[in-house]
Amino acid sequence: MEYYSEQISQLIAELSSLPSIGSKSAQRLAFHILHMPHADVKRLSETILSARENVRFCKECFTLTDQDICPICADEKRDHHTIMVVEDSRDMAAYEHTKEYKGVYHVLHGAISPMQGIGPDDIRLKELMARLQSDVDEVIIATNSSLEGETTAMYISKLVKPTGIKVSRIASGVPVGGDLENTDEITLLRALEGRTEL
Ligand code: ZN
Repeated sequence: MEYYSEQISQLIAELSSLPSIGSKSAQRLAFHILHMPHADVKRLSETILSARENVRFCKECFTLTDQDICPICADEKRDHHTIMVVEDSRDMAAYEHTKEYKGVYHVLHGAISPMQGIGPDDIRLKELMARLQSDVDEVIIATNSSLEGETTAMYISKLVKPTGIKVSRIASGVPVGGDLENTDEITLLRALEGRTEL
């Protein structure tokens, strides 16, 4: 790092603070940016800033969106009585790619992890329970098949069962420890179709 002048080092440091960007990638990106036309760098930085300032949580499903209500929740043709619970917006996108699921979602923004000190209050569980006050037929738990995902699934099923609402868990077609977002569409569909009632 000390071979570079201060501003270059600073850019590399900022980039390497991003997830999955090691110091080599950060240097590659930094020099790429420094060689980009000024207008392109301006557009990139403005896009980042504007997304950060305007993106917020959907008031219904808590996915990230630039509107009050995300396009999926706002779509009247979707089945609003079926809620699929996912860990993050990327998992929701993975199921949307299949184009088969017609219900709506609930995005937890994480999973319960006693090891990392993440408890039920640290994810959007209260918000899920509040949504169940309205007319809901089924809650499909599609958290990852990691230890955290399974812990969260069990916790949610215990909360939902007393309400009398059907609660199911997607089949274990999703590889153990695998992230939903990295699972192919056919596997995701099989997991959804083969879901079991808890
Ligand atoms: Zn929404």
